[in-house]
Amino acid sequence: MSNYDYIIVGAGASGLLLGYHLGTDPFFKNKSILLLDKSTKQQNDRTWCFWEKGEGPFDHILYKTWPKIHFAGEAIDITPEIEPYRYKMLRGIDFYEYYLTQIDRYPNVDFVNDSIATIQDSGQQIVVVGEKNTYNGRQLFDSRFNYNTIREQSKYPILQQHFLGWFVKTDQSVFSPDAATFMDFSIPQQGNTRFMYVLPFSATEALVEYTLFSETPLEKSAYEMAIREYLSTKLGVREYTITETEQGNIPMTCHDFSKDNTDQLLRIGIAGGWAKASTGYTFYNSVKKVPQLVAHIKKGRPLKTFNPKTRFWFYDLLLLDILHKHNQLGSGIFESLFKRRKPQLIFKFLDEETTLLEDLYIMAAPRPWPFIKALTGRLV
Ligand SMILES: Cc1cc2nc3c(=O)[nH]c(=O)nc-3n(C[C@H](O)[C@H](O)[C@H](O)COP(=O)(O)OP(=O)(O)OC[C@H]3O[C@@H](n4cnc5c(N)ncnc54)[C@H](O)[C@@H]3O)c2cc1C
Repeated sequence: MSNYDYIIVGAGASGLLLGYHLGTDPFFKNKSILLLDKSTKQQNDRTWCFWEKGEGPFDHILYKTWPKIHFAGEAIDITPEIEPYRYKMLRGIDFYEYYLTQIDRYPNVDFVNDSIATIQDSGQQIVVVGEKNTYNGRQLFDSRFNYNTIREQSKYPILQQHFLGWFVKTDQSVFSPDAATFMDFSIPQQGNTRFMYVLPFSATEALVEYTLFSETPLEKSAYEMAIREYLSTKLGVREYTITETEQGNIPMTCHDFSKDNTDQLLRIGIAGGWAKASTGYTFYNSVKKVPQLVAHIKKGRPLKTFNPKTRFWFYDLLLLDILHKHNQLGSGIFESLFKRRKPQLIFKFLDEETTLLEDLYIMAAPRPWPFIKALTGRLV
């Protein structure tokens, strides 16, 4: 049995960020920290994109940034500048490599490759049982996520941001490398909220992703067919090579993730409800939450009191209630938003940094009826 002050299960986005912040903070110099993962994190298993004002902590490991975004729909096709923001892309592998190297330098942080089967919380200490070893911790942060844990309730709808993407290389110049296609709804909606997401790396290389905000994932062939169709009819590309693929499935829900937390055990990352329920964006949320969590730990507060709900949780809930009952309304809602409001304000709202007045201004952009109905549904 190995003993630690803090154990982090999962060395993905949230786990590595937490391990790094604990390791770098002199407050934890005499504390022992264990980071566990079933994977050695040597694969490029995802790309993260986020918007950020000016320079940021990942700039030296970014793959690409864009000064503009492209948004399109039935009656809109715009490519605005997003200054002072930039849309930034970070490859999973570059993040894992950099943060694991940093963590390796901290004498009080161990990274161990082990698959965790069970976690027992006796109230006094936490016992983590892995395939290779058993670990004992005073506090535990768990980033393993399992959809079954959120399906046990029916109070909050569960949608998914599900997608499949192809990294393509073309012979002709077809992409505009200075604008990332944030959402292109000008594709058949088939009763859902469906859009294309395109990250152009050069005039001849891009990640083209078919994305849905809906309840159930599609067959792989349906995503592939949609990408093929988009490449040929929208972009006029028939000859291309697929160099890599990426697939994902992010929960979109207002489920109360905190209910299984205790004084010494906290779920983090997607498992802790850090994915923005209305968009699925999680990475930058984790970047912001981790320093807050470290401050919380330093104050010696019970872990379960971290991360209270805000009014933005309720706004997300209204949107999810609408998309759950009337999934086809998504394109119209996002289109009205981008037609009538500046992308900078939309980013600020999605970052949960707007004032109440700005919230009202944003929420007045789409047709009000679905929101009024969703609101009354929640209040009565
Ligand atoms: C393909 C893809 C693309 C995405 N793109 C974006 C994006 O552009 N922007 C954005 O904001 N969000 C994006 N997301 C969503 C989100 O940011 C990522 O899923 C992010 O990695 C979530 O961080 P996390 O720490 O919650 O989980 P993860 O990063 O998945 O980390 C969990 C870790 O736990 C480990 N683990 C799981 N089970 C066990 C076990 N039993 N024992 C030990 N270890 C275990 C896993 O190996 C993994 O390393 C994307 C997700 C995917 C899948």
